[in-house]
Amino acid sequence: MANPTVENLVIIGSGPAGYTAAIYAGRANLKPVVFEGFQAGGLPGGQLMTTTEVENFPGFPEGITGPELMERSKAQAERWGAELFTEDVISVDLRVRPFIVRSEEREVKTHSIIIATGATAKRLRLPSETQYWSRGISACAICDGATPIFHNAELAVVGGGDSAAEEAIYLTKYGSHVHLLVRSDRMRASKAMQDRVLSNPKITVHWHTQPVDVFGESDRLSGVKIQNTQTGELGEIQVKGLFYAIGHTPNTSLFQGQLELDEVGYIVTKPGSVETSVEGVFAAGDVQDHEFRQAVTAAGTGCMAALLAERWLSAEGLLQEFHQKAVEQTATPETAKKTEAEQQAEFSLEATRHAGSYALRKLFHESDRLLMVKYASPQCGPCHTLKPILNKVVDEFDGQIHFIEIDIEQDPDIAENAGVTGTPTIQLFKSKELLTELKGVKPKSHYRELIASNLST
Ligand SMILES: Cc1cc2nc3c(=O)[nH]c(=O)nc-3n(C[C@H](O)[C@H](O)[C@H](O)COP(=O)(O)OP(=O)(O)OC[C@H]3O[C@@H](n4cnc5c(N)ncnc54)[C@H](O)[C@@H]3O)c2cc1C
Repeated sequence: MANPTVENLVIIGSGPAGYTAAIYAGRANLKPVVFEGFQAGGLPGGQLMTTTEVENFPGFPEGITGPELMERSKAQAERWGAELFTEDVISVDLRVRPFIVRSEEREVKTHSIIIATGATAKRLRLPSETQYWSRGISACAICDGATPIFHNAELAVVGGGDSAAEEAIYLTKYGSHVHLLVRSDRMRASKAMQDRVLSNPKITVHWHTQPVDVFGESDRLSGVKIQNTQTGELGEIQVKGLFYAIGHTPNTSLFQGQLELDEVGYIVTKPGSVETSVEGVFAAGDVQDHEFRQAVTAAGTGCMAALLAERWLSAEGLLQEFHQKAVEQTATPETAKKTEAEQQAEFSLEATRHAGSYALRKLFHESDRLLMVKYASPQCGPCHTLKPILNKVVDEFDGQIHFIEIDIEQDPDIAENAGVTGTPTIQLFKSKELLTELKGVKPKSHYRELIASNLST
């Protein structure tokens, strides 16, 4: 008889691999527990939360933004009964059965685990890199190469391995010319790849060359500052795109010494499968894939992992079924802006949650509660991450505060007047006075403490 205090399946990670595994496991009545992550190894929702258009995921002929694709995947996982925690896993014990998975807030025992923690593209950490990231600098030529700004433009690739060679060749389809920057006098790429690079008239290899910074105009990259690694001589190349192909770091530090990893740190899976070296532990997505690293391949292996986990639980007599009805999907794509009259009709001074400029103006002048204003935009990945975190905190202070959501695309004037320069931004007001402002996404406890301390003053 299965022990009810032990979960069937814990999924670690909430990129395309993690959510797909959660959808399949949920539909198989496993009621999977998903640790979506918070800060370790990227954002909840994974790497696609940092991109705009995804144009190669099947089913979206017009493309879909990365954050929207992931929000829909999450909603689909929830619809089928997955239990989601927006928390980082801080330790895993695979030496005991059931396995133990811990975050800062809970400890979960589980019979099986799917690891979908992804991999992080290495960065060069150039002085102006952050300014031009996704504005000309990319870590994924296959994902971003076809973007119109790179068409017929000069481009550069950094790296000397197979990926760098492949990306340089791939980019010749779009760019007018590709500069491959190689640190030494040789490439690590296979002989065949090197031959293809060296014989391609649209590629120039710059030997003994490393980038030392980037520059641009109006927030768009326009060139790379380079240095000769032998002579120290500095120079510049005018390019509109700079693609990093200097490798990825798989997010596997939690599993070192407990699972077989390759020399780079990727989880080793059995050929053609997603089984790892420990029975009952499966790995899906980029964390076990140093070759394809695409959303659709991550989703595909997420599906394989869930099916194999179910099969394994069943064969071991450990499976406990949770029959449930699929709940209606609650993911709400952006709503159209309501008219002033509609906002007025819906407004209640007693309610905790509000949205839009009308409520903000009314509450600013008429409420004596603490006001928490969230400025967000539909395209912003971190805004989607913040949503469930803040929702929980706001629930804890129901009736004591007012929480007002402002979509800065619908209400740009409000955002401008409030001095908001990026999203998400949180502002706290009391008696018409701005108390504090927070940018980006912080842990839940941070918002909780901030509200509590301002309530008591
Ligand atoms: C800028 C950019 C653009 C891209 N564009 C495309 C594209 O157009 N098309 C395409 O197919 N692919 C694209 N890719 C590649 C694609 O995003 C990845 O292949 C895919 O996201 C891999 O999915 P994954 O689920 O394996 O991992 P990831 O998406 O990397 O997700 C990993 C997850 O693990 C979580 N995590 C990590 N550590 C922990 C921990 N300790 N505890 C809990 N959770 C943890 C993270 O929070 C995250 O949710 C792009 C990548 C980038 C960087």
